[in-house]
Amino acid sequence: MPPSDDAEATRAALADVRAAALGCVACKLAGDRTQVVFGTGNPGTPMVLVGQSPGEQEDRLGEPFVGRAGQLLNECLQECGIKRKHIWITNIVKCRPWERTTGGRGRNRDPEEDEIAACRPWIEAELALIRPRVIVCIGAPSATLILGREVAISRDRGGWFTEHPFRPAHVMPVFHPAYLLRQHGPAFDELRRQFVADLDSARRMAVKLLHEPAPSAAPPTPPAQMSLFDEEGG
Ligand code: SF4
Repeated sequence: MPPSDDAEATRAALADVRAAALGCVACKLAGDRTQVVFGTGNPGTPMVLVGQSPGEQEDRLGEPFVGRAGQLLNECLQECGIKRKHIWITNIVKCRPWERTTGGRGRNRDPEEDEIAACRPWIEAELALIRPRVIVCIGAPSATLILGREVAISRDRGGWFTEHPFRPAHVMPVFHPAYLLRQHGPAFDELRRQFVADLDSARRMAVKLLHEPAPSAAPPTPPAQMSLFDEEGG
């Protein structure tokens, strides 16, 4: 199916937002970055994955989730029939937060509150243009920003949330694959199993919502979304 005018308009608008973000100097992370890491994927998708912030590899290559955690994410997505070209992947903070180490290449750190707040307009713009039916929040900082309240991943992962500032999307928090990589043996196997199950649940919810009328508060479903996730296993 050729792209609709609506899909083309979304793609063009996102390209404009990306171009503006690449020059952003709204917080102190601008001074230490190689480049801004904007979201990538399919702007016509019903499903967006939102992580925390770029790491060293992402800063170098300019794409989210391309390091070890990204490779694990790709494996787990593929196990439930999701290709990266089906979805949009982004972060709540677009530049790498890191600290210098003596003699080293620097160590990733969590983004600070002022950095998350400064970067918020970019994720808001992405989500406003894509209008996903499902938002998967990878890790607690992402879930806290999207849901507008504190989130405990071990308690809230795999659950659905519909009351939040990014309505009418259905939001699910999941573990961060970097957290999985810090586990070993049976603990890793069990958390990885839960992670895949959560991603598959998110995929099934996206399929289900695409076949339901859009909520009245939502804009009309872009025709391009209807051609995605149409078949179980994508
Ligand atoms: S982290 Fe976000 S707000 Fe800060 S400079 Fe980068 S793009 Fe701008």
